[in-house]
Amino acid sequence: MSTAESRMNTVGLVLVSHSRALAMATETLIRQVTGSNVRMAIAAGAGDEGADLGTDALQILAAIESLDDPMGTLVLMDMGSALLSTETALGLLSEPVRARVLMSSGPFVEGAMAAALAASGGASLTDVRQEAENGLRMKQQQLAPDNATAKENPQIPADSPEHQLSLYLADPAGLHLRPAAALAKLALARSTPSFIAAAKHPDNRVSASSLTAILGLDLRQGDEIYLQTSGPDADAFLDRAAACLQEDQHPPAKMPVPVENEATKHPQGAAPGFAQGPLIIHDELLTTVPRSYCDDCAEALHTFLEAVAEVRRQLSDHPILEAQNVLLSDPALLKKTTTLIQNEHLDAASAWAQSISQAASQIDALSDPILRARSADLRDLGNRVLQALGVTADLQPWQGPPAILLVNELLPSVALRFDPEQVLGVIDRHGSANSHAAILLRGSGIPYVINADPVIFANTQYVAMDGKTGELWPDPDARILETLHDREQMHQDQNSAGSYGQITLSDGSTLELWANVASTAEAAAARRLGATGIGLLRTEFFFLDQQTLPDEESQCQFLRQVMAPMQGLPIVVRALDAGADKPLTFMALGAEANPALGRRGLRALLAYPDIFALQLRAMLRAGRDHDLRIMLPMVTNPEELRSARMILEQAHQQLEAAGLAHRWPVPLGIMAEVPAVALCMKQFNGLSDFVSIGSNDLTQYTLASDRSNALLQTLGNAAHPAVLELCRKMVQDSHAPVSICGEAAGDPQIAPLLVDCGIRRLSMAPLRLSNVYKRVSGT
Ligand code: PEP
Ligand code: MG
Repeated sequence: MSTAESRMNTVGLVLVSHSRALAMATETLIRQVTGSNVRMAIAAGAGDEGADLGTDALQILAAIESLDDPMGTLVLMDMGSALLSTETALGLLSEPVRARVLMSSGPFVEGAMAAALAASGGASLTDVRQEAENGLRMKQQQLAPDNATAKENPQIPADSPEHQLSLYLADPAGLHLRPAAALAKLALARSTPSFIAAAKHPDNRVSASSLTAILGLDLRQGDEIYLQTSGPDADAFLDRAAACLQEDQHPPAKMPVPVENEATKHPQGAAPGFAQGPLIIHDELLTTVPRSYCDDCAEALHTFLEAVAEVRRQLSDHPILEAQNVLLSDPALLKKTTTLIQNEHLDAASAWAQSISQAASQIDALSDPILRARSADLRDLGNRVLQALGVTADLQPWQGPPAILLVNELLPSVALRFDPEQVLGVIDRHGSANSHAAILLRGSGIPYVINADPVIFANTQYVAMDGKTGELWPDPDARILETLHDREQMHQDQNSAGSYGQITLSDGSTLELWANVASTAEAAAARRLGATGIGLLRTEFFFLDQQTLPDEESQCQFLRQVMAPMQGLPIVVRALDAGADKPLTFMALGAEANPALGRRGLRALLAYPDIFALQLRAMLRAGRDHDLRIMLPMVTNPEELRSARMILEQAHQQLEAAGLAHRWPVPLGIMAEVPAVALCMKQFNGLSDFVSIGSNDLTQYTLASDRSNALLQTLGNAAHPAVLELCRKMVQDSHAPVSICGEAAGDPQIAPLLVDCGIRRLSMAPLRLSNVYKRVSGT
């Protein structure tokens, strides 16, 4: 990082650039002119070995420290956020070193050259800085030889005239996140400050580099906006900034354009059931951080910056999270946090949590519901950084009185903790009916509506919802509540005890209905409703919120609790299906461009054989007095099954050697989720003891339709002839019994089609058993 020379008695120069190549070339240029007696260090580029564009406060810190000398150090920076990184680095220096450092507002290349010339002649720190600041003088004089004023005053004086552009915001959604983030990014890349204000509050002009400040302006459709900046590139900047703000809009309007109501989103039902109750906005809660203090502020700042760098790396892998990445560069947020650490001696986590929570509350107070929704992004970002700081997520989801929650993209780890007594229903601004969160809510009997437009909830206190049809009634009147009461009654009837486990079909064969469960409550419901067995015990939800791998004993205890209600009946436990939309902290699978096609399911388990073996031992022990069967997720090739069987054998031998009671032998089966398995089913004959079709994934892979994309819900239909054809083929080709445990099995419309394909074992959420039973049996 540093190319510091050891000579003394010159002012040191630190070159801070977004580009390592630029900084190195500048240094070479200077050396050619001044020779080697100027002490210089480079802090340039980000990421591994500075290969990415960016600046890094820790690099700058190290560069300054490497040059520290009584003569002092001058820091030259290239563009916008280089200044922020340098300010942050200065905050980390010990006071005596800090006192010997100055920052230069001079141009990067010319300024560095002028500074180096002065430094090599032994000039003092302030003189060197003065030279750097006059770095453009020669060029300016040459380019404007007749302009007497220009000879006296550089063309870019600090108080150069401000350029302004005004525009009307035509977007019905107001100034929303994406254009605001694009503007902040553009502004961050310049060294000249730029501002944005609304004509309605012209005095409240804020920095265009701060995404939180821009959002805080609460800009709405029809508002007139001023953009202001100075410098030689002012007009070009303003044009680009205006283009950013108009990117998602109708053509730029001179006057406010009346636009029809934007309610283009169509809520959809994702977990059946009826609910009514107070509406609570329950966006990602910021993890609770007890206020604590640091002994060593410099160390706390270091820790904070490292966490920010880590999250930045994570976010850069996800283009969809670009706006969060811009938020992470927000000078206001970073400055607030560093100030809290330095002035109030808060530790990194407390300072960051306080900054985020204040910024999010400011956004919560905005009048525009769409902008208010952005506070969820802030909290989400807040939690990412807190996690990088080692603060365990606080997943107590809702502690208040029973309510319906309005959420923003429900995570499975949060859904898992919802107590149906407390959470009457969930309305999601985004979400998907095929997501794991939806599967969990269906299992818990909590109605869930996705793709809801937050606008309809402005000022709503109470809401009624139908999780089957997706209907929502903000502040319903008495008549609607009465209708709803009837529907609610029907929903409760579905959940009352019954015997829905077996149907004799007209051809004399028996159709078995099994249950998918992830919790003891669901297993109890499966028993109450008469399920033949557990066709899918999903284990991964137990792991989702764990920072470290739970030990064998606690895994065993968890499984025993879930299995207990189904004692005596067959129980298929699925090995950990991590990866894709179920990432685990303790299984670092690395960033992947297409996680759904990456290392998930059995692929991930085989990459972590110790984690796999530990889980298998826990399963064998938990199943010691149960009819246990083990199922492997996301299998692609017979080879993978052979490897898994070897690890299972070893797990059995280890338990044997340790003298621990366990179930043995145990049938080992595969999930058919990858079309290759369906097409080559014969290869698994003699190897797999049973096959269970995971129609959720099989559908997404067959139809190339992301199961978590709400816009592709219609396309990702398990009743598509291609999916049904694969099911039929598997029944024909497999020697082992074929069941299905994807959501299609519990859909009363699709279940009869699966029966037509020859499947005689359907496994579904317990609350779906009665409907499917009635539909197929015709009762
Ligand atoms: C499936 O893919 O159909 C399945 C049951 O597995 P999951 O939904 O947990 O991915
Ligand atoms: Mg699956």
